[in-house]
Amino acid sequence: IDPTQYIRQIIRNVPDWPKPGVTFRDITPVLQDPRSFRVLIDLFVYRYMGQKLDLVAGVDARGFIVGSVLAYELNLGFVPVRKKGKLPFNTVAEEYSLEYGNASVEMHTDSVRPGQRVLLIDDLIATGGTLLAAARLLQRLGANVVEAAAIIDLPELGGSQAVKDSGLSVYTVCS
Ligand code: 5GP
Repeated sequence: IDPTQYIRQIIRNVPDWPKPGVTFRDITPVLQDPRSFRVLIDLFVYRYMGQKLDLVAGVDARGFIVGSVLAYELNLGFVPVRKKGKLPFNTVAEEYSLEYGNASVEMHTDSVRPGQRVLLIDDLIATGGTLLAAARLLQRLGANVVEAAAIIDLPELGGSQAVKDSGLSVYTVCS
């Protein structure tokens, strides 16, 4: 079985969560199973080793899990893109709109130096709003966002296309 198929079959679809009519893609079984966890990280390592990256930026909270392991494997530093109000030092924020209302992501002002080559990673791309906001934030700090990556793309929501339309390269393991 091919690695992508292996990951895909372990992702759990949870109907009607967080609300009726929505099917949530739950990646916790992929992390729980040591073989799929390794295959997942290795797919990212295979893609990014030798790409002259400086940092991995992971999005709160599932992006921390894959992003930090990936950073460690690639001998890179890791920086968190957090939800509002969680970071203790000086921060910059970027707002984005949700179905109802707004949300924002924050980073420490000193988390990236201008010109650093950064891989941005999260678990899933739905509308793309989260990754777009995170990328804007990184770019405001002077980062070169080399790629936006995720485990899962939901292409019917157009998010990965929107991220590409903003000029970013996008990679997802499966859809
Ligand atoms: P977007 O901003 O692209 O609309 O939504 C993506 C964000 O919401 C990601 O941070 C992701 O963790 C979370 N998210 C939305 N839907 C799902 C889902 O079905 N499964 C998982 N694992 N995360 C989701």
